[in-house]
Amino acid sequence: MFKKVLIANRGEIALRVHRACREMGIRTVAVHSTADADAMHVRLADEAICIGPPSATDSYLNIPAIISAAEIAQADAIHPGYGFLSENARFAEIVQEHRITWIGPDPEHIRKMGDKVEAKRTAAALGLPLVPGSDGPINSVEEALEVAEKIGYPVLVKAASGGGGRGMKVIPDAASLPSLVSQAKSEAKAAFGDDTVYIEKYLSEPRHIEFQIFGDGQGGAVHMGERDCSLQRRHQKVLEEAPSPVLSAAERARMGEVVRQAIAKLKYRGAGTIEFLWENGEFFFIEMNTRLQVEHPVSEAITGLDLVREQIRVAAGLPLSVTQDDIHFEGHAIECRINAEDPASFAPSPGRVTDFHQPGGLHVRVDSALYDGYRIPPYYDSLIAKLIVYGANRDECLMRLRRALEEFVIHGPKTTIPLHQALIEDSDFQKGDYSIKWLERWLAAKA
Ligand code: ADP
Repeated sequence: MFKKVLIANRGEIALRVHRACREMGIRTVAVHSTADADAMHVRLADEAICIGPPSATDSYLNIPAIISAAEIAQADAIHPGYGFLSENARFAEIVQEHRITWIGPDPEHIRKMGDKVEAKRTAAALGLPLVPGSDGPINSVEEALEVAEKIGYPVLVKAASGGGGRGMKVIPDAASLPSLVSQAKSEAKAAFGDDTVYIEKYLSEPRHIEFQIFGDGQGGAVHMGERDCSLQRRHQKVLEEAPSPVLSAAERARMGEVVRQAIAKLKYRGAGTIEFLWENGEFFFIEMNTRLQVEHPVSEAITGLDLVREQIRVAAGLPLSVTQDDIHFEGHAIECRINAEDPASFAPSPGRVTDFHQPGGLHVRVDSALYDGYRIPPYYDSLIAKLIVYGANRDECLMRLRRALEEFVIHGPKTTIPLHQALIEDSDFQKGDYSIKWLERWLAAKA
């Protein structure tokens, strides 16, 4: 097992990885920007190394600085967390070239899944159902018109290198197609340096349902059930739950097995997520994320597994600690993403935390790097806490979540706690009756 792991991240996920390491008897090295000198991950880690100025480009994305830190600290392995360099195949290769273990999948798999056109081809070859669409990139307006005609309007034009919900446009009809495709191409070029686009059927009211998977890199794989992440604003997840309120145990077992076999065939190593849109009982693959996700704790809550420990074990060459038969889904878990933002306008609200009290009690978990007096820097993502609540069933989970949100005190910056409090009182939400469009409609109605 590793003696020392460098955590190439910040915030709650850096703490999450630190905790798994300490439980496994592994020492940790935190890296940080000058703006994060007082951050919790720096305080808790066994060692800390400053890797640059506040801007992420110069610090958390600064590959030479991170590699130097790992060499100076003599770390055996690097855990990238999520975001930043976690899906950068070149970084994964550089880490390995320095004889440091990369706690993540094979760089080739990261590269393949990072290009969405390539990812869809791979998914199809592995037997996963796709959203109907172009068979690869779109090379001309004529080709786009032909594909759209075949699958039927509305269609969605998407950037092959897109991410974070950016680089997508809905095309309602043939007349608007030429200009929207060319706009999408120039926006993709500007945002991702790649103007490759492809076309998909635009599903009207789907749910976003994703499967957590794990591979040992040798053809062994398990699935850890699904998460429902349909509650989104601007394609960003706001609240996630496991299991999905709409999936039966039989459907979970059937689709889980399809996904498990695909991952086994790929000989994938480590944690990953296969994302689907789900409409009228059918699954459609949209993308695969080759990293730990923000919402992984809801899967941990219903399976009792520690996903970060599993990642570290597999990276160290140990087998998966469970077989599919060992994995049972029990109860219900919900995660609320709490952002330092105005709950109505979503304007960022960094600054000093003047009072902090986190909820506790049975089955209440808070993953956060906040503390009393902490100054939330304005340079990074606005996620400041994840509240994860478990219950024997969804009703019990909601009852406990209401109580936990009431107890949560974060004074100073504005937070999205009031948004979650209002959301869980909605009757559609309580029934689990929502699609990916639902939250934006609900927000618009409240405004
Ligand atoms: P990104 O990598 O930018 O997050 P995804 O392909 O994962 O892009 O899609 C993000 C979100 O966009 C999905 O969760 C869903 O809300 C919406 N979306 C993507 N593809 C479609 C589609 N074909 N029809 C309708 N909505 C879609």
